[in-house]
Amino acid sequence: MTPILGCIADDFTGATDLAGLLARSGAKVSLRIGVPDHPPTDTAAFEVIALKSRTAPCADAIAETLAAYAWLQKAGARRFFFKYCSTFDSTADGNIGPVSEALMDRIGTDQTIYCPAFPENGRSIFMGNLFVGEQPLAESPMKDHPLTPMRDSNLVRLLDPQVRGDVGLVNRLTVAKGPQAVRTALDGLRKAGKSHVIVDAVADSDLNIIAEASRHLPLLTGGSAIAMPLPALYAADGLLELSKGAVRYEIPKATTVVLSGSCSAMTNAQVANYCKQGAPAFRLDPIDLAKDGTTAVLAWLHQQDLGLAPLIYATADPASVAAAQRTLGMAKAGAIIEDALSACAIAARDRGARRVIVAGGETSGAVTKALGVSALNIGPEIAPGVPWTFCTSAGQNIALTLKSGNFGTETFFSHAQSVLENT
Ligand code: ADP
Repeated sequence: MTPILGCIADDFTGATDLAGLLARSGAKVSLRIGVPDHPPTDTAAFEVIALKSRTAPCADAIAETLAAYAWLQKAGARRFFFKYCSTFDSTADGNIGPVSEALMDRIGTDQTIYCPAFPENGRSIFMGNLFVGEQPLAESPMKDHPLTPMRDSNLVRLLDPQVRGDVGLVNRLTVAKGPQAVRTALDGLRKAGKSHVIVDAVADSDLNIIAEASRHLPLLTGGSAIAMPLPALYAADGLLELSKGAVRYEIPKATTVVLSGSCSAMTNAQVANYCKQGAPAFRLDPIDLAKDGTTAVLAWLHQQDLGLAPLIYATADPASVAAAQRTLGMAKAGAIIEDALSACAIAARDRGARRVIVAGGETSGAVTKALGVSALNIGPEIAPGVPWTFCTSAGQNIALTLKSGNFGTETFFSHAQSVLENT
């Protein structure tokens, strides 16, 4: 069918997160890895294109996003959604602002909203300030992110240097008054020349109001949660029918590898928990990898029983990450780890791994690319924003889950495995 919403995500875990939340409605969701090199065929109501543009040079991120937009437009989409992280991961140069502005220019629209809130995962926005749980963003562990350290919590201040146009805010007091008040506020801001509007949200009910008020805009931007109400709203508008039919999954056998390149506080806790449970584990050190390559880890992997779901991780605390970055440089440290985990993914698959659990947004992009995965079907949800997906790699059916750094609870790695056992 003609897509009702064409979605572009700036990283892979973000794309599966978005696709998973849209699929909760029962709508058909198709997720493509990168811009397909073939013209659109067999499109779903919700098309999601996963890019790896979050930390790419800004001009590359814009070019890739516009290519994705062109594909979605060719498929017939007339409404678009740009998905980024619920912690607004970006630098003073972008890429959230410049990419959104480029999309607005191309679509020919003069206003969009920015709503990264994801209340179910503890991300809320109040008076333009983003909170992670009870902490302001800049006091949360995101202040130490290896690639996009977030040192300010105020989204208006964060977005302003990233865009040419003016930034405005629709605050929670307005949102609490309902969709009409939000729409009126957006119109007022448009007349005042404010093209880029941050919208507060602290609960799912706020997201419902904001989605209802802004669904007429040709471009919406935000985290995955603001897209969650859209399928039901489109159904109420008569644009699609939702049928929560029983989706069947073919579950690949339980030979598993867990690959973790995220250094978030939650992933650190997840790795510690999994090791404490006695899982076989190998720690990657970027400085050792730079010196000696991947021989040691691949030899270790070769000896593992994949039935025990061994873990290979570079996950480390902020001090160790900083030390590696001082020695190697930020980009090189990241790339060495991503390359090593990609090599492990291929080796594990070739040894028979049919379930792959990946932690980290950039890491997921690298691993997915290495496995040559081009499309994913969305399966059962492990945690809010983290579904299992099913795909093929080198002709093999693989179950793959891509976990964004801060998502899931401490037992995520073992819980993910039990979700497939119980599906
Ligand atoms: P998250 O989803 O938590 O942001 P990402 O995978 O997107 O995780 O980003 C983590 C980045 O940190 C990756 O580029 C990864 O290669 C890099 N990295 C992982 N471990 C280390 C380490 N020990 N030292 C330096 N950089 C690391």
